[in-house]
Amino acid sequence: MSIAEVSRFELPGFSGSLIHPHHADYDEARRVYNGMIDRRPAVIARCSSADDVVLALGLARSKGLPVSVFGGGHAVTGSAVCDDGICIDLRGMKEIRIDPVARTCRAEAGLNWGEFDAATARHGLALTGGRNPTTGIAGLSLGSGSGWLERKFGYVCDNLISAEVVTADGRQVIASDTENPDLFWGLRGGGGNFGIVTAFHFRLHQLGPIVLAGALMYPAPMAGAVLRHMRDFIRTAPDEVGIGMAFTTAPDAPFVPEPARGKPIVVVQVIFAGDMEQGATVLAPLRAFGPPAADLVQPMPYTEFQKLGGNFPGSQNYWTADFLNELPEEAIDAYAALALTPLSPQSAIILVPGGGAPSRVDEEATAFGMRTAPWNVHYICGWMNPADNAANTARVKEIAAVLKPWSTGRVYLNYIGNEGQDRVDAAFGARKLARLRDLKAKWDPDNVFRHNHNIRPADSQG
Ligand SMILES: Cc1cc2nc3c(=O)[nH]c(=O)nc-3n(C[C@H](O)[C@H](O)[C@H](O)COP(=O)(O)OP(=O)(O)OC[C@H]3O[C@@H](n4cnc5c(N)ncnc54)[C@H](O)[C@@H]3O)c2cc1C
Repeated sequence: MSIAEVSRFELPGFSGSLIHPHHADYDEARRVYNGMIDRRPAVIARCSSADDVVLALGLARSKGLPVSVFGGGHAVTGSAVCDDGICIDLRGMKEIRIDPVARTCRAEAGLNWGEFDAATARHGLALTGGRNPTTGIAGLSLGSGSGWLERKFGYVCDNLISAEVVTADGRQVIASDTENPDLFWGLRGGGGNFGIVTAFHFRLHQLGPIVLAGALMYPAPMAGAVLRHMRDFIRTAPDEVGIGMAFTTAPDAPFVPEPARGKPIVVVQVIFAGDMEQGATVLAPLRAFGPPAADLVQPMPYTEFQKLGGNFPGSQNYWTADFLNELPEEAIDAYAALALTPLSPQSAIILVPGGGAPSRVDEEATAFGMRTAPWNVHYICGWMNPADNAANTARVKEIAAVLKPWSTGRVYLNYIGNEGQDRVDAAFGARKLARLRDLKAKWDPDNVFRHNHNIRPADSQG
Protein backbone atom coordinates (compact mmCIF):
# COMPACT_ATOMS: atom_id res chain seq x y z
CA MET A 1 0.00 0.00 0.00
CA SER A 2 1.49 3.35 -0.97
CA ILE A 3 1.91 6.24 1.45
CA ALA A 4 -0.45 8.31 -0.68
CA GLU A 5 -3.18 5.67 -0.24
CA VAL A 6 -2.85 5.32 3.50
CA SER A 7 -2.64 9.07 4.04
CA ARG A 8 -6.24 9.23 2.91
CA PHE A 9 -7.45 7.11 5.83
CA GLU A 10 -9.46 9.39 8.02
CA LEU A 11 -11.77 8.60 10.87
CA PRO A 12 -14.46 11.15 11.64
CA GLY A 13 -15.12 11.15 15.37
CA PHE A 14 -11.78 9.55 16.28
CA SER A 15 -10.42 11.39 19.30
CA GLY A 16 -6.94 9.84 19.42
CA SER A 17 -4.31 10.29 16.74
CA LEU A 18 -3.77 8.48 13.45
CA ILE A 19 -0.08 7.97 12.81
CA HIS A 20 0.67 7.46 9.12
CA PRO A 21 4.04 6.32 7.73
CA HIS A 22 5.11 9.89 6.94
CA HIS A 23 4.37 11.04 10.51
CA ALA A 24 7.39 12.10 12.61
CA ASP A 25 6.38 9.64 15.37
CA TYR A 26 5.79 6.67 13.06
CA ASP A 27 9.08 4.82 13.59
CA GLU A 28 8.96 5.25 17.35
CA ALA A 29 5.29 4.22 17.47
CA ARG A 30 5.81 0.95 15.55
CA ARG A 31 8.83 -0.13 17.62
CA VAL A 32 8.30 -3.17 19.85
CA TYR A 33 10.51 -4.76 22.52
CA ASN A 34 12.01 -7.31 20.14
CA GLY A 35 14.44 -5.52 17.82
CA MET A 36 14.13 -8.35 15.27
CA ILE A 37 10.65 -7.10 14.39
CA ASP A 38 10.44 -4.42 11.71
CA ARG A 39 6.80 -4.21 10.62
CA ARG A 40 5.16 -1.26 8.90
CA PRO A 41 1.46 -0.81 9.65
CA ALA A 42 -0.51 1.27 7.14
CA VAL A 43 -1.82 3.29 10.07
CA ILE A 44 -1.19 3.25 13.80
CA ALA A 45 -4.46 4.28 15.41
CA ARG A 46 -3.52 5.62 18.83
CA CYS A 47 -6.84 5.33 20.65
CA SER A 48 -7.95 7.37 23.62
CA SER A 49 -11.25 5.58 24.32
CA ALA A 50 -13.20 2.40 23.65
CA ASP A 51 -15.17 4.33 21.04
CA ASP A 52 -11.89 5.03 19.23
CA VAL A 53 -11.14 1.30 19.27
CA VAL A 54 -14.52 0.61 17.66
CA LEU A 55 -13.81 3.22 14.95
CA ALA A 56 -10.30 1.92 14.22
CA LEU A 57 -11.51 -1.66 14.04
CA GLY A 58 -14.36 -0.59 11.76
CA LEU A 59 -11.87 1.16 9.45
CA ALA A 60 -9.76 -1.99 9.20
CA ARG A 61 -12.76 -4.19 8.50
CA SER A 62 -14.25 -1.83 5.92
CA LYS A 63 -10.95 -1.76 4.01
CA GLY A 64 -10.28 -5.47 4.49
CA LEU A 65 -6.99 -4.73 6.23
CA PRO A 66 -5.18 -6.82 8.86
CA VAL A 67 -5.54 -5.76 12.50
CA SER A 68 -2.99 -5.86 15.26
CA VAL A 69 -3.45 -4.76 18.86
CA PHE A 70 -0.66 -2.92 20.69
CA GLY A 71 -0.82 -3.18 24.49
CA GLY A 72 2.74 -2.74 25.72
CA GLY A 73 4.54 -4.16 22.67
CA HIS A 74 6.40 -6.78 24.70
CA ALA A 75 5.29 -9.97 22.96
CA VAL A 76 8.48 -11.43 21.54
CA THR A 77 6.44 -12.45 18.49
CA GLY A 78 6.06 -8.74 17.68
CA SER A 79 2.37 -9.36 17.12
CA ALA A 80 1.53 -5.85 18.38
CA VAL A 81 2.39 -4.60 14.90
CA CYS A 82 1.36 -5.85 11.47
CA ASP A 83 2.47 -5.03 7.94
CA ASP A 84 0.09 -2.95 5.82
CA GLY A 85 -2.76 -3.07 8.31
CA ILE A 86 -4.25 -1.07 11.15
CA CYS A 87 -2.34 -1.23 14.41
CA ILE A 88 -4.82 -0.47 17.18
CA ASP A 89 -2.57 1.17 19.74
CA LEU A 90 -3.91 1.35 23.30
CA ARG A 91 -0.96 3.15 24.90
CA GLY A 92 -2.98 6.35 25.13
CA MET A 93 -5.47 4.63 27.47
CA LYS A 94 -3.87 4.60 30.90
CA GLU A 95 -6.54 5.56 33.41
CA ILE A 96 -6.59 3.54 36.61
CA ARG A 97 -9.27 3.92 39.30
CA ILE A 98 -8.73 2.15 42.59
CA ASP A 99 -11.32 1.40 45.25
CA PRO A 100 -9.13 0.89 48.34
CA VAL A 101 -12.07 -0.24 50.47
CA ALA A 102 -13.37 -2.90 48.10
CA ARG A 103 -9.76 -3.63 47.03
CA THR A 104 -10.57 -3.54 43.35
CA CYS A 105 -9.53 -1.45 40.40
CA ARG A 106 -10.54 -0.56 36.86
CA ALA A 107 -7.42 -0.32 34.73
CA GLU A 108 -7.33 0.73 31.10
CA ALA A 109 -5.53 -1.60 28.74
CA GLY A 110 -2.69 0.75 27.76
CA LEU A 111 -1.06 0.70 31.19
CA ASN A 112 2.18 -1.11 31.79
CA TRP A 113 3.03 -2.91 35.02
CA GLY A 114 5.29 -0.13 36.30
CA GLU A 115 2.41 2.33 36.05
CA PHE A 116 -0.09 -0.16 37.47
CA ASP A 117 2.11 -1.20 40.42
CA ALA A 118 2.96 2.42 41.29
CA ALA A 119 -0.75 3.30 41.45
CA THR A 120 -1.81 0.32 43.59
CA ALA A 121 1.22 0.62 45.90
CA ARG A 122 0.00 4.07 46.95
CA HIS A 123 -2.85 2.23 48.70
CA GLY A 124 -0.68 -0.61 50.05
CA LEU A 125 -2.29 -2.89 47.44
CA ALA A 126 -0.92 -5.07 44.67
CA LEU A 127 -1.81 -7.66 42.09
CA THR A 128 0.40 -10.39 40.69
CA GLY A 129 2.05 -8.57 37.80
CA GLY A 130 4.67 -9.08 35.13
CA ARG A 131 8.25 -9.27 36.33
CA ASN A 132 9.19 -6.22 34.31
CA PRO A 133 7.75 -2.72 34.64
CA THR A 134 7.53 -1.91 30.93
CA THR A 135 5.47 -4.96 29.94
CA GLY A 136 1.86 -4.15 29.08
CA ILE A 137 -0.84 -5.28 31.50
CA ALA A 138 -3.11 -6.31 28.61
CA GLY A 139 -1.13 -8.89 26.66
CA LEU A 140 0.30 -10.36 29.86
CA SER A 141 -3.07 -10.69 31.62
CA LEU A 142 -4.81 -12.23 28.60
CA GLY A 143 -2.09 -14.87 28.44
CA SER A 144 -2.98 -15.58 32.12
CA GLY A 145 -0.14 -13.57 33.67
CA SER A 146 2.62 -15.12 35.71
CA GLY A 147 4.48 -13.05 38.29
CA TRP A 148 6.35 -13.08 41.60
CA LEU A 149 3.17 -12.94 43.69
CA GLU A 150 1.36 -15.78 41.94
CA ARG A 151 1.86 -18.46 44.58
CA LYS A 152 0.04 -16.22 47.06
CA PHE A 153 -2.52 -14.37 44.90
CA GLY A 154 -2.87 -16.56 41.79
CA TYR A 155 -2.18 -15.66 38.20
CA VAL A 156 -3.28 -12.22 37.03
CA CYS A 157 -6.27 -13.78 35.25
CA ASP A 158 -7.37 -15.45 38.51
CA ASN A 159 -7.97 -11.93 39.82
CA LEU A 160 -9.98 -10.69 36.87
CA ILE A 161 -13.50 -9.69 37.91
CA SER A 162 -14.64 -8.48 34.51
CA ALA A 163 -13.37 -6.98 31.26
CA GLU A 164 -14.69 -4.33 28.90
CA VAL A 165 -14.35 -5.75 25.41
CA VAL A 166 -14.75 -4.54 21.83
CA THR A 167 -15.80 -7.55 19.77
CA ALA A 168 -14.78 -8.40 16.22
CA ASP A 169 -18.10 -7.02 14.94
CA GLY A 170 -17.55 -3.74 16.77
CA ARG A 171 -19.86 -4.15 19.78
CA GLN A 172 -18.86 -3.09 23.29
CA VAL A 173 -19.63 -5.83 25.80
CA ILE A 174 -18.77 -6.84 29.35
CA ALA A 175 -17.28 -10.23 30.07
CA SER A 176 -17.69 -11.53 33.62
CA ASP A 177 -19.05 -14.51 35.51
CA THR A 178 -22.57 -13.24 34.88
CA GLU A 179 -22.29 -11.45 31.50
CA ASN A 180 -20.95 -13.39 28.54
CA PRO A 181 -19.33 -15.98 30.82
CA ASP A 182 -18.04 -17.98 27.85
CA LEU A 183 -16.06 -14.97 26.65
CA PHE A 184 -14.85 -14.35 30.21
CA TRP A 185 -13.54 -17.92 30.32
CA GLY A 186 -11.69 -17.48 27.03
CA LEU A 187 -10.08 -14.17 28.01
CA ARG A 188 -8.37 -15.84 30.94
CA GLY A 189 -5.50 -17.50 29.07
CA GLY A 190 -6.75 -17.43 25.47
CA GLY A 191 -4.79 -14.27 24.63
CA GLY A 192 -6.09 -11.60 22.27
CA ASN A 193 -8.16 -14.03 20.22
CA PHE A 194 -11.67 -13.04 21.23
CA GLY A 195 -11.82 -9.27 21.26
CA ILE A 196 -10.00 -6.11 22.21
CA VAL A 197 -10.07 -5.50 25.94
CA THR A 198 -10.25 -1.80 26.66
CA ALA A 199 -10.33 -2.05 30.48
CA PHE A 200 -9.82 -4.70 33.14
CA HIS A 201 -11.51 -4.86 36.56
CA PHE A 202 -9.19 -6.63 38.98
CA ARG A 203 -9.24 -7.76 42.60
CA LEU A 204 -6.29 -6.36 44.55
CA HIS A 205 -4.51 -7.57 47.67
CA GLN A 206 -2.82 -5.98 50.62
CA LEU A 207 0.96 -5.95 50.18
CA GLY A 208 3.79 -3.98 51.72
CA PRO A 209 4.44 -1.52 50.18
CA ILE A 210 7.78 -2.58 51.73
CA VAL A 211 8.53 -6.28 51.32
CA LEU A 212 11.45 -8.56 52.11
CA ALA A 213 12.87 -9.34 48.68
CA GLY A 214 15.92 -9.29 46.47
CA ALA A 215 18.52 -11.51 44.87
CA LEU A 216 21.07 -14.09 45.93
CA MET A 217 24.00 -14.53 43.54
CA TYR A 218 26.18 -17.61 43.21
CA PRO A 219 29.10 -18.47 40.92
CA ALA A 220 27.88 -20.44 37.90
CA PRO A 221 29.69 -23.68 38.85
CA MET A 222 27.37 -23.89 41.89
CA ALA A 223 24.29 -24.07 39.64
CA GLY A 224 23.42 -27.72 40.34
CA ALA A 225 23.79 -27.37 44.11
CA VAL A 226 21.77 -24.15 44.18
CA LEU A 227 18.99 -25.70 42.13
CA ARG A 228 18.79 -28.75 44.38
CA HIS A 229 18.61 -26.48 47.39
CA MET A 230 15.90 -24.30 45.84
CA ARG A 231 13.92 -27.40 44.83
CA ASP A 232 14.02 -28.75 48.38
CA PHE A 233 13.28 -25.33 49.90
CA ILE A 234 10.21 -24.65 47.77
CA ARG A 235 8.63 -28.05 48.54
CA THR A 236 7.63 -26.86 52.01
CA ALA A 237 7.73 -23.09 51.54
CA PRO A 238 4.52 -21.15 52.23
CA ASP A 239 2.62 -19.48 49.38
CA GLU A 240 4.08 -16.10 50.38
CA VAL A 241 7.39 -17.17 48.83
CA GLY A 242 7.78 -16.14 45.20
CA ILE A 243 11.00 -17.41 43.72
CA GLY A 244 12.85 -18.06 40.49
CA MET A 245 16.34 -18.99 39.47
CA ALA A 246 18.17 -17.48 36.52
CA PHE A 247 21.37 -18.47 34.74
CA THR A 248 22.73 -15.22 33.43
CA THR A 249 25.72 -12.87 33.40
CA ALA A 250 26.43 -10.67 36.42
CA PRO A 251 26.20 -6.96 35.68
CA ASP A 252 29.51 -5.11 35.74
CA ALA A 253 28.23 -2.98 38.61
CA PRO A 254 29.48 -2.00 42.07
CA PHE A 255 26.76 -3.96 43.92
CA VAL A 256 28.19 -7.20 42.49
CA PRO A 257 31.25 -8.44 44.43
CA GLU A 258 34.43 -8.10 42.34
CA PRO A 259 35.16 -11.73 41.44
CA ALA A 260 31.62 -12.21 40.07
CA ARG A 261 31.29 -9.00 38.02
CA GLY A 262 30.63 -9.64 34.35
CA LYS A 263 30.91 -13.42 34.88
CA PRO A 264 28.33 -16.21 34.41
CA ILE A 265 26.25 -16.41 37.59
CA VAL A 266 23.22 -18.04 39.10
CA VAL A 267 20.71 -15.61 40.55
CA VAL A 268 17.93 -16.66 42.87
CA GLN A 269 15.35 -13.91 42.97
CA VAL A 270 12.97 -14.13 45.91
CA ILE A 271 10.16 -12.21 47.57
CA PHE A 272 8.16 -12.83 50.73
CA ALA A 273 4.66 -11.48 50.16
CA GLY A 274 3.74 -11.13 53.82
CA ASP A 275 4.94 -10.02 57.21
CA MET A 276 8.65 -9.13 57.06
CA GLU A 277 9.64 -10.75 60.36
CA GLN A 278 8.00 -13.98 59.34
CA GLY A 279 9.68 -13.62 55.96
CA ALA A 280 13.10 -13.32 57.58
CA THR A 281 12.52 -16.62 59.40
CA VAL A 282 11.13 -18.41 56.34
CA LEU A 283 13.89 -17.23 54.02
CA ALA A 284 16.73 -17.86 56.52
CA PRO A 285 17.50 -21.44 55.33
CA LEU A 286 17.49 -20.30 51.72
CA ARG A 287 19.91 -17.47 52.44
CA ALA A 288 22.16 -19.63 54.64
CA PHE A 289 22.98 -21.92 51.73
CA GLY A 290 26.28 -21.40 50.05
CA PRO A 291 27.10 -18.84 51.20
CA PRO A 292 26.14 -16.76 48.16
CA ALA A 293 28.63 -14.45 46.47
CA ALA A 294 26.12 -11.69 47.20
CA ASP A 295 22.99 -11.58 49.37
CA LEU A 296 20.95 -8.58 48.26
CA VAL A 297 17.74 -9.69 49.99
CA GLN A 298 16.50 -6.78 52.08
CA PRO A 299 13.40 -4.73 52.87
CA MET A 300 12.49 -2.83 49.71
CA PRO A 301 9.41 -1.41 48.01
CA TYR A 302 7.63 -4.05 45.93
CA THR A 303 7.77 -1.61 43.03
CA GLU A 304 11.60 -1.62 43.22
CA PHE A 305 11.73 -5.41 43.33
CA GLN A 306 9.65 -5.42 40.13
CA LYS A 307 12.44 -3.50 38.38
CA LEU A 308 15.22 -5.98 39.16
CA GLY A 309 14.83 -8.24 36.12
CA GLY A 310 16.85 -7.69 32.95
CA ASN A 311 15.26 -5.32 30.46
CA PHE A 312 16.83 -4.85 27.02
CA PRO A 313 14.27 -3.17 24.76
CA GLY A 314 15.36 -3.13 21.14
CA SER A 315 17.72 -6.11 21.51
CA GLN A 316 17.36 -9.05 19.11
CA ASN A 317 15.30 -11.75 20.83
CA TYR A 318 14.49 -15.38 20.36
CA TRP A 319 12.62 -16.89 23.30
CA THR A 320 11.20 -20.27 24.01
CA ALA A 321 9.83 -22.13 27.04
CA ASP A 322 8.54 -25.44 28.37
CA PHE A 323 6.53 -26.64 31.33
CA LEU A 324 8.41 -29.48 33.02
CA ASN A 325 6.99 -32.59 34.67
CA GLU A 326 9.81 -33.18 37.06
CA LEU A 327 13.45 -32.40 37.73
CA PRO A 328 15.27 -35.66 38.42
CA GLU A 329 19.01 -35.68 39.09
CA GLU A 330 19.82 -36.32 35.44
CA ALA A 331 17.81 -33.26 34.40
CA ILE A 332 19.44 -31.09 37.04
CA ASP A 333 22.92 -32.09 35.90
CA ALA A 334 22.10 -31.40 32.25
CA TYR A 335 20.45 -28.12 33.13
CA ALA A 336 23.19 -26.91 35.50
CA ALA A 337 25.78 -27.24 32.73
CA LEU A 338 23.93 -24.49 30.83
CA ALA A 339 24.85 -21.98 33.53
CA LEU A 340 28.52 -22.02 32.57
CA THR A 341 28.18 -20.55 29.09
CA PRO A 342 25.49 -17.85 28.84
CA LEU A 343 24.60 -17.05 25.25
CA SER A 344 25.10 -13.31 25.77
CA PRO A 345 24.99 -10.69 28.55
CA GLN A 346 21.35 -10.00 27.58
CA SER A 347 20.25 -13.63 28.03
CA ALA A 348 18.83 -15.53 30.97
CA ILE A 349 17.48 -19.02 31.43
CA ILE A 350 14.87 -18.81 34.13
CA LEU A 351 13.34 -21.64 36.09
CA VAL A 352 10.23 -20.87 38.12
CA PRO A 353 8.48 -23.39 40.37
CA GLY A 354 4.74 -23.98 40.15
CA GLY A 355 2.46 -24.77 43.07
CA GLY A 356 0.63 -22.33 45.33
CA ALA A 357 -2.62 -20.58 44.49
CA PRO A 358 -2.68 -21.13 40.68
CA SER A 359 -2.41 -24.88 41.12
CA ARG A 360 -5.51 -24.91 43.36
CA VAL A 361 -7.76 -23.32 40.70
CA ASP A 362 -9.77 -25.89 38.79
CA GLU A 363 -8.04 -26.68 35.47
CA GLU A 364 -11.35 -26.13 33.65
CA ALA A 365 -12.11 -22.77 35.28
CA THR A 366 -10.10 -20.75 32.76
CA ALA A 367 -8.77 -21.13 29.24
CA PHE A 368 -5.17 -21.21 30.46
CA GLY A 369 -3.61 -24.54 29.57
CA MET A 370 -1.38 -25.81 32.39
CA ARG A 371 -1.78 -25.13 36.09
CA THR A 372 -0.13 -28.09 37.71
CA ALA A 373 3.34 -28.32 36.20
CA PRO A 374 5.95 -28.21 38.95
CA TRP A 375 8.37 -26.13 36.84
CA ASN A 376 8.30 -23.60 34.01
CA VAL A 377 11.57 -23.02 32.18
CA HIS A 378 11.91 -19.88 30.11
CA TYR A 379 14.78 -19.17 27.74
CA ILE A 380 14.92 -15.38 27.50
CA CYS A 381 17.61 -15.02 24.90
CA GLY A 382 18.58 -11.64 23.54
CA TRP A 383 21.67 -10.10 21.97
CA MET A 384 22.61 -6.83 20.33
CA ASN A 385 24.01 -7.64 16.88
CA PRO A 386 21.50 -8.66 14.15
CA ALA A 387 24.36 -10.44 12.36
CA ASP A 388 24.19 -13.04 15.16
CA ASN A 389 20.49 -13.80 14.64
CA ALA A 390 20.73 -17.06 12.71
CA ALA A 391 23.53 -18.57 14.79
CA ASN A 392 22.07 -17.51 18.13
CA THR A 393 18.55 -18.65 17.27
CA ALA A 394 19.94 -22.05 16.34
CA ARG A 395 21.90 -22.13 19.60
CA VAL A 396 18.82 -21.30 21.69
CA LYS A 397 16.99 -24.22 20.08
CA GLU A 398 19.91 -26.52 20.99
CA ILE A 399 19.92 -25.22 24.56
CA ALA A 400 16.17 -25.72 24.91
CA ALA A 401 16.47 -29.28 23.62
CA VAL A 402 18.41 -30.26 26.76
CA LEU A 403 15.33 -30.32 29.00
CA LYS A 404 12.79 -31.49 26.38
CA PRO A 405 12.80 -35.06 27.71
CA TRP A 406 11.12 -33.72 30.88
CA SER A 407 8.67 -31.37 29.17
CA THR A 408 4.93 -31.84 29.75
CA GLY A 409 4.40 -31.03 26.06
CA ARG A 410 2.59 -27.83 27.08
CA VAL A 411 4.03 -24.37 26.91
CA TYR A 412 3.33 -21.00 28.47
CA LEU A 413 2.45 -18.94 25.41
CA ASN A 414 3.41 -15.60 26.97
CA TYR A 415 7.00 -16.79 26.89
CA ILE A 416 7.49 -17.88 23.30
CA GLY A 417 7.92 -16.42 19.84
CA ASN A 418 6.43 -17.77 16.64
CA GLU A 419 6.99 -21.52 16.87
CA GLY A 420 4.16 -22.64 14.62
CA GLN A 421 0.50 -23.57 15.02
CA ASP A 422 1.22 -27.00 16.54
CA ARG A 423 2.95 -25.42 19.47
CA VAL A 424 0.04 -23.02 20.11
CA ASP A 425 -2.46 -25.86 19.87
CA ALA A 426 -0.38 -28.03 22.19
CA ALA A 427 -0.36 -25.29 24.83
CA PHE A 428 -4.04 -25.95 25.51
CA GLY A 429 -4.34 -29.69 24.97
CA ALA A 430 -6.92 -31.22 22.62
CA ARG A 431 -10.07 -30.84 24.76
CA LYS A 432 -9.53 -27.23 25.75
CA LEU A 433 -8.42 -26.34 22.24
CA ALA A 434 -11.70 -27.66 20.83
CA ARG A 435 -13.65 -25.51 23.30
CA LEU A 436 -11.52 -22.48 22.42
CA ARG A 437 -12.03 -23.00 18.70
CA ASP A 438 -15.81 -23.13 19.21
CA LEU A 439 -15.56 -19.93 21.20
CA LYS A 440 -13.49 -18.32 18.46
CA ALA A 441 -16.10 -19.33 15.88
CA LYS A 442 -18.73 -17.59 18.00
CA TRP A 443 -16.86 -14.37 18.84
CA ASP A 444 -14.48 -13.95 15.89
CA PRO A 445 -15.60 -16.26 13.06
CA ASP A 446 -13.57 -14.38 10.44
CA ASN A 447 -10.39 -14.56 12.54
CA VAL A 448 -9.99 -10.79 12.54
CA PHE A 449 -7.81 -11.13 15.62
CA ARG A 450 -5.14 -13.38 14.15
CA HIS A 451 -1.99 -11.39 14.92
CA ASN A 452 -1.40 -13.40 18.08
CA HIS A 453 -0.84 -16.96 19.20
CA ASN A 454 -3.79 -17.84 17.06
CA ILE A 455 -6.75 -20.01 17.92
CA ARG A 456 -8.42 -20.81 14.60
CA PRO A 457 -12.23 -20.75 14.48
CA ALA A 458 -13.85 -24.20 14.53
CA ASP A 459 -14.73 -25.42 11.02
CA SER A 460 -11.95 -23.33 9.45
CA GLN A 461 -9.19 -25.11 7.56
CA GLY A 462 -6.48 -26.70 9.64
C1 LIG B 1 11.04 -8.08 29.45
C2 LIG B 1 9.80 -8.96 29.47
C3 LIG B 1 9.39 -9.53 30.66
C4 LIG B 1 8.25 -10.36 30.70
N1 LIG B 1 7.87 -10.90 31.89
C5 LIG B 1 6.74 -11.66 31.94
C6 LIG B 1 6.27 -12.19 33.17
O1 LIG B 1 6.86 -11.99 34.22
N2 LIG B 1 5.14 -12.91 33.16
C7 LIG B 1 4.43 -13.16 32.02
O2 LIG B 1 3.39 -13.81 32.08
N3 LIG B 1 4.88 -12.70 30.84
C8 LIG B 1 5.99 -11.95 30.78
N4 LIG B 1 6.43 -11.46 29.58
C9 LIG B 1 5.70 -11.85 28.38
C10 LIG B 1 4.48 -10.97 28.21
O3 LIG B 1 3.47 -11.35 29.09
C11 LIG B 1 3.90 -11.11 26.82
O4 LIG B 1 4.89 -10.75 25.92
C12 LIG B 1 2.68 -10.20 26.65
O5 LIG B 1 2.10 -10.46 25.38
C13 LIG B 1 3.08 -8.76 26.74
O6 LIG B 1 1.97 -7.93 26.86
P1 LIG B 1 1.95 -6.57 26.05
O7 LIG B 1 0.65 -5.90 26.27
O8 LIG B 1 3.18 -5.80 26.32
O9 LIG B 1 1.96 -7.21 24.59
P2 LIG B 1 1.81 -6.68 23.11
O10 LIG B 1 3.04 -7.08 22.39
O11 LIG B 1 1.38 -5.27 23.01
O12 LIG B 1 0.61 -7.59 22.64
C14 LIG B 1 0.78 -8.96 22.46
C15 LIG B 1 -0.52 -9.54 21.99
O13 LIG B 1 -1.45 -9.49 23.06
C16 LIG B 1 -2.74 -9.19 22.55
N5 LIG B 1 -3.21 -7.95 23.16
C17 LIG B 1 -2.49 -6.95 23.70
N6 LIG B 1 -3.31 -6.04 24.23
C18 LIG B 1 -4.57 -6.47 24.00
C19 LIG B 1 -5.86 -5.98 24.32
N7 LIG B 1 -6.03 -4.87 25.03
N8 LIG B 1 -6.94 -6.68 23.93
C20 LIG B 1 -6.80 -7.83 23.24
N9 LIG B 1 -5.61 -8.35 22.92
C21 LIG B 1 -4.51 -7.67 23.31
C22 LIG B 1 -2.62 -9.07 21.06
O14 LIG B 1 -2.92 -10.32 20.48
C23 LIG B 1 -1.17 -8.76 20.87
O15 LIG B 1 -0.68 -9.23 19.64
C24 LIG B 1 7.54 -10.63 29.51
C25 LIG B 1 7.96 -10.05 28.31
C26 LIG B 1 9.08 -9.22 28.29
C27 LIG B 1 9.54 -8.63 26.99
